[in-house]
Amino acid sequence: MNSKRILLSQSERPTAWYNLQADLPEPVPPPLHPGTKQPIGPADLEPIFAKRLIAQEVSQERWIEIPQAVQNAYAIWRPSPLVRATGLEQALKTPARIYFKDESHSPPGSHKPNTAVPQAYFNKIEGINRLTTETGAGQWGSALAFACALFDMECKVFMVKVSYQQKPYRRSMMRLWGSEVTASPSTETEAGRQLLALDPDSPGSLGMAISEAVEAAVTHEGTRYTLGSVLNHVMLHQSVIGLEAEKQFELAGDSPDVVIGCVGGGSNFAGLAFPFLRHKIAGKPIRFVACEPCSCPSMSRGQYRYDFGDTTKLTPLVKMFTLGHSFVPPGIHAGGLRYHGMAPMVSLGAKLGLIEAASFHQIECFEAAQIFAKTEGIIPAPETSHAIRGAIVEAIRCREENRQECIVFNFSGHGLCDLGSYDRFFSGELEDYAYPQEKIESALAELPEID
Ligand SMILES: *Cc1c(COP(=O)(O)O)cnc(C)c1O
Repeated sequence: MNSKRILLSQSERPTAWYNLQADLPEPVPPPLHPGTKQPIGPADLEPIFAKRLIAQEVSQERWIEIPQAVQNAYAIWRPSPLVRATGLEQALKTPARIYFKDESHSPPGSHKPNTAVPQAYFNKIEGINRLTTETGAGQWGSALAFACALFDMECKVFMVKVSYQQKPYRRSMMRLWGSEVTASPSTETEAGRQLLALDPDSPGSLGMAISEAVEAAVTHEGTRYTLGSVLNHVMLHQSVIGLEAEKQFELAGDSPDVVIGCVGGGSNFAGLAFPFLRHKIAGKPIRFVACEPCSCPSMSRGQYRYDFGDTTKLTPLVKMFTLGHSFVPPGIHAGGLRYHGMAPMVSLGAKLGLIEAASFHQIECFEAAQIFAKTEGIIPAPETSHAIRGAIVEAIRCREENRQECIVFNFSGHGLCDLGSYDRFFSGELEDYAYPQEKIESALAELPEID
């Protein structure tokens, strides 16, 4: 009873991923071709993504088997612990029970390898030996570099130039796992050369790096592109988080009333939430809270519309909560949450009233991270601190209403490569950005008119 860490054995690891598409009351709207604005077919995506990943993207099957080779790789760090945050509960004097699912144990230190590993594997078995991608702060790039090392594949990462210069340690991790890392914009692609001609000192952006990574995939034999969040197949792979948590709650004799995660593109939140969301769809009263930065509030302040996934309008149009593809969020330290849109599946869940959004300023999140580090010991990534803030708000509500609810949040990653951000927090250099009302309004005005 009341054990601190609730652990599963290797044999209790899930053997199939859960696909929420089978249980959503409405289908996820299809992606549209950026030129014709008609639904795109699998063939349109085959130059970019592995066939099996495209099939998973549109699959309505409830359970999709996890291949043995992927399970063997998951065994390096999964099952991850479910931890009762007793220290945090005491500090908050809350009658609520707080748990967190600790995804910081993977070798790259976040939830991202849950999808990097299957993405590398499905490409490998289709004869693809080289993957490209973009990365901002380096979390996704390092997860893909790790996965490619496991399957003996080449990996090419375009890293946003300003992060390349400011965040050397994840760059080193990628090199250690054998990946090539290039600062973007670069002279290696047509897109990069054009961007450099316009501005030789460009600091780069995710939108620019996506353009380079996609070009580097479609113009090279045996190469495909990968994306670390947003897409349906990424949400599918991340479901291992919630499936494990379900079993762990059974062992603990408890079950969550509130499920919380931070959201950038939505994948770590979806990974924990979706297996529980199917019980809400079946009538169980569980709340789901997606936590985002006030400076990039796609769910709280965006519109549910068709929009491009990238700044340069290369990607298909997807229906999602968006602030507009031209919106450039302020430079908050939770770089992984600076995305203008939200996963179509999470967006649909919010539109249907199944998922709530909450938004927080960065200083209150760093404060929450410090409370967590002092009470539970683990140093959170700045992204993760948004989920911690969300859990603290719910726990304080429980104290004020004297309710003994069960709260669980996803601890998406550790902050050991983000200590520079904590230094800036301590020296008072961090600021809270006001909600960028005008910038969002002008970006929303540029959305394509569809529906
Ligand atoms: C990338 C990242 C996020 C945000 O991405 P999602 O797809 O929304 O999960 C959150 N936390 C950590 C630690 C990350 O690396």
